[in-house]
Amino acid sequence: MVPDVRSGCGVNTDLPDLPGAICATVDPELWFSDRQPGWAETERRAKALCRSCPVVAECLAYALKEPLAGIWGGLNEAERHRLAQTPGTTDRAMRARSVAARMKREVRADRVATAGRLRDGGLEVDVIALRLGVTRRSALRYLADAS
Ligand code: SF4
Repeated sequence: MVPDVRSGCGVNTDLPDLPGAICATVDPELWFSDRQPGWAETERRAKALCRSCPVVAECLAYALKEPLAGIWGGLNEAERHRLAQTPGTTDRAMRARSVAARMKREVRADRVATAGRLRDGGLEVDVIALRLGVTRRSALRYLADAS
């Protein structure tokens, strides 16, 4: 549940319950790099985890209406501000779903490319699945698309 995870950020707000949030299982400091040394790599890692998070759309929708520090829904503060200012729909949930769908497409494309590279490097499908952290069936789907 996110509230426990985000307790270190100093933001006192009524956070939603987001079952399945990836950041509930990883060091929360990752989402609050605050331009410390090495922040770019830290931010990249946090965003990559957000892109795989099952509640990224809900998380981003929430973060678009609250002044929150750190990375939420795969975007940092500046990126969320820009998204909130983007002309078009005023429906924050719709914007969040759209961004989340794009993130998931990027994750899948990345996995397909990685699976293809690993296969070309001579690895078996079970090893590829292990390396990607997915089931054998998913790995086979990625490999089919990588053909
Ligand atoms: S999208 Fe990112 S910040 Fe939001 S709940 Fe998931 S991992 Fe945490």
